[in-house]
Amino acid sequence: MKACVWRGKHDVRIDDVPDPALVNPHDAIVRVTLTAICGSDLHLYNGLDPAMKSGDILGHEFVGRVVATGTACDKVKVGDRVVVMCSIACGRCWFCRHDLTSACDNANPIAGHTALELAYGHAGGALFGSSHLYGGYAGGQAEYVRVPFADIGCMAIPAELSDEQAIFVGDVLPTGWMAAESCDIEPGDTIAVFGCGPVGQLAIRCAFLLGAERVIAIDSVPERLAMAGDSGAIELDDRGDVVRRLDELTGGRGPDACIDAVGRASALRTAIYVVRKGGRVSIAGVYAGVVDKFPLGVAFAKGLTLRMGQTQFHAYAPSLLRRVQAREIDPAFVITHRVQLDELPDAYRMFDARRDGCIKVVARP
Ligand SMILES: [Zn+2]
Ligand SMILES: [Zn+2]
Repeated sequence: MKACVWRGKHDVRIDDVPDPALVNPHDAIVRVTLTAICGSDLHLYNGLDPAMKSGDILGHEFVGRVVATGTACDKVKVGDRVVVMCSIACGRCWFCRHDLTSACDNANPIAGHTALELAYGHAGGALFGSSHLYGGYAGGQAEYVRVPFADIGCMAIPAELSDEQAIFVGDVLPTGWMAAESCDIEPGDTIAVFGCGPVGQLAIRCAFLLGAERVIAIDSVPERLAMAGDSGAIELDDRGDVVRRLDELTGGRGPDACIDAVGRASALRTAIYVVRKGGRVSIAGVYAGVVDKFPLGVAFAKGLTLRMGQTQFHAYAPSLLRRVQAREIDPAFVITHRVQLDELPDAYRMFDARRDGCIKVVARP
């Protein structure tokens, strides 16, 4: 089959690779009908993860048809049209039973022997198409993909929803939702969203769904700000004096909550600095290792609540799929580019360079 593989920093290619096979009775094989590039794929593209290996198949956002199932699968059936959760979870361990599936203790086969466990105390769960610190599973930017623990990883897509409407239920929609939910939004609240990539865009819509009165969208890319404006957010160009503008917009008090959908320490520091006293800071951006000059004293003095972490995709996806079905939200609005699988390497370059107003790429195998 054809797959988009990582060969090194700034080097992704379409290669012919062996078709995946069932290796465990809980596996399913899915023929991918739509896949996407996520912002976190760019970390891999840019060579920022030391545990990638040449030949790894990328991609953790995908939908498709089930074409084979292992003997232990009893929920998912051949022929089902499914959206697959981007994290892999067993559904049975202590963490999975407590809705902490992205911390699954069984899905990451190398947890317990890794630098990650040494550095963090406990290793995380597993992800599709990510580094070998997270299990090294082949991803979904391919014609076919093996889905471990398929009964809990696959969600059937209602017939009336398109692939484009369903695909983000596996990753960026739950991430945007959890980012907004972590703000504990109350009527009248003003929420500032730092970073208007796909997660930021969805966090804006989710913040309104959760009752925010105003959402202020902060970014420097005009197309992203315009998309946020279309969702009803106030656009704030971050090349200006963001702190002063946010103070002006909130009568000097500061936003009630800030969402960091950037994943850079500078944005997080600003969010902690500008949020109102007693406010909430929700961190959806991806961080690894240590963060220099983290202003813990500021957060303490202001009595802030900080919430963060890998999204619990399996916990949020069922209710979010129902919201998509009920037309409360249509996450497909973030798509700006539609390509074929063959064109993914060019699409990576375009997305990385933020060229052509690129916010979200989807690809058809
Ligand atoms: Zn992602
Ligand atoms: Zn588990």
